[in-house]
Amino acid sequence: MADQEKFAPVQLASRRVPIITTAQRNTLRPELLEVIEYRKSGLSVNHIVGCPLDCGYCIRHVFDNFQMKVPRALMTDTDAATMLFEHPYFQPHLTPIQLLNRATDPMLPPVKPHTFEMLRLLDQRRLTNHVLVITRWRIEPEDCAILNSFNNIRLTVLVTHSGIDDDRIEPVDSNIAAASLRTAFAHAKRYRVILYWRPIVPVLNDTDEHFQRAFELSHHAHATVFTGLFYKDQIRDYYQAHGLPEPYLEGARRKVFPEDLETRILAAAAEYGTGSPLFRKTSCAVTYAHGVADYNGHYGIRELCDICPVAQINRCAKAWVRPDAARVAALAEQLGGSLVEINDRAVVVADLSEQPRYLMQHSLGYQVHDVNKPHHRNRHGRADLGWPTIKETL
Ligand code: SF4
Repeated sequence: MADQEKFAPVQLASRRVPIITTAQRNTLRPELLEVIEYRKSGLSVNHIVGCPLDCGYCIRHVFDNFQMKVPRALMTDTDAATMLFEHPYFQPHLTPIQLLNRATDPMLPPVKPHTFEMLRLLDQRRLTNHVLVITRWRIEPEDCAILNSFNNIRLTVLVTHSGIDDDRIEPVDSNIAAASLRTAFAHAKRYRVILYWRPIVPVLNDTDEHFQRAFELSHHAHATVFTGLFYKDQIRDYYQAHGLPEPYLEGARRKVFPEDLETRILAAAAEYGTGSPLFRKTSCAVTYAHGVADYNGHYGIRELCDICPVAQINRCAKAWVRPDAARVAALAEQLGGSLVEINDRAVVVADLSEQPRYLMQHSLGYQVHDVNKPHHRNRHGRADLGWPTIKETL
């Protein structure tokens, strides 16, 4: 009930998100004004900023934006779509796209019309790119009818469900996401549905009951991703300032997912069974759901694939080709960096930030790592926390 009261103003808003005022714009950090950002799962379009859902682990802490509860648009949908199409890293039919996943929830009532309009603008160009929409809010049957209406884009709806019931950390009732998942899956024709089981955090939501609940929900998805918590320093500061139970002693640049937690989840999955297969990586689940090979080249990190269905392993094996060194060196140089080596797992480069590395990764279908940020074998690109020699508080 408290939940309903809290979100009533947003639910009742039938109008679209207003364009931000100059005064409001001036309060935003410059990073938030960069509407297009290349992230691992694709080029991310974020022209709406602000969210009332108050998840304690929200990435907006990192941008000093957590207090902005009412969504505001930085520009029109048409301008945002044009910016995407004209982005130097955008490649028709190839670049994965994520909509409104950094600073708001794309299914909040005032935001939803913009999400649908962006999908329409992409689809009407006959683009076949993957498009990811990640939400923890409500999906109704009439939304599904719209989501089914797109003919060209490869659309995936990822429904975030953690099962965390400490409402100091996650005030939104997890049952909302559970209901959305069931609805989205029941009506899916042209789009695919992923159970985005995250963040899984020791003590908060890692009991056998939590696992069984997630496995039960996995029957209502084409694939399930399980993953940990981004425990960046700014999020840790928020936990400390609000007296929230700290899951780890340190902040981390990558997602935290202790080895023991993963072992327990996989053992429980083997014991109880799941409805849809489990994946460690978002793009693996998305591509499996559409019956195509992983666009991030995770197949090179072979230990990631030990839980993947055989048909999908075969797809990825067929598509995964060690790239030509001359081509990679030229690409790295063109982007301002250099090729260090190409090995059996990844291309290793120097002097390239994340965004050009992701451009290379998606262009090559092969992992691209920074020589100064090594990925450890069997750790799946996650933070060091929770792996041997690293201490935890819980
Ligand atoms: S085979 Fe490996 S890379 Fe491909 S989807 Fe499965 S886990 Fe991911």
